[in-house]
Amino acid sequence: MEINIQKRVLEANETQADKNRKFFKEQNVFVLNMMSSPGSGKTQLLCKSLKLLMPSVRVGVIVGDICTRNDADRLEITGAKVTQINTDQFGGDCHLSAHLILASAEGLGCLDLDLLIVENIGNLVCPAEFDIGEDAKAVVLSVTEGEDKPLKYPLMFRVADVAILNKIDLLPYLDFDAKLAVDNMKQVHPQLPVFEVSAKTQQGFEPWLEWVKIKVFEKTGK
Ligand code: MG
Ligand code: ZN
Repeated sequence: MEINIQKRVLEANETQADKNRKFFKEQNVFVLNMMSSPGSGKTQLLCKSLKLLMPSVRVGVIVGDICTRNDADRLEITGAKVTQINTDQFGGDCHLSAHLILASAEGLGCLDLDLLIVENIGNLVCPAEFDIGEDAKAVVLSVTEGEDKPLKYPLMFRVADVAILNKIDLLPYLDFDAKLAVDNMKQVHPQLPVFEVSAKTQQGFEPWLEWVKIKVFEKTGK
């Protein structure tokens, strides 16, 4: 019974995701769904990335959290168009589903954007299962987590189009084995591009931002 309900939820999500995809195509905007566990540094990574991408790339952000608009407030300082979704009012869902995205995207005015980033709710489990009509999925892992997370949460790393290993400025102070973490990602998803960065120092940002710009250009021609 429970399996059937879950199946129906995912089917309904897929139908809405297709509608979102059609909308994003009409608006000619590239959509990147960013996922990670809580505390991986997604918001800081985005703040620094947006400062370097704009204004040549016009960026909007939809931020998902169960409660608060703290992350949206931090991102708004960059000058990007930002909107916050709180799932608390819809039962506190721990992921963003496709039906929450369209109204927010319409509110942002996607015709004036080249890139729409969705900062998903911090969670390595169900956000991987919910297609929101995005063009690419990014997963962020930080060096303050375990090297074995890709093995523990393989679906997230399997569906990702790009992975970012964040907080590498902390490596000298930790026993974290960055090579092992990357090997574990590649074990789950051999072709996965992985960028090792520090959102604090901006080390490693150039190849990561280049990847973003190429993806935006490939879809939108902009
Ligand atoms: Mg955040
Ligand atoms: Zn969830």
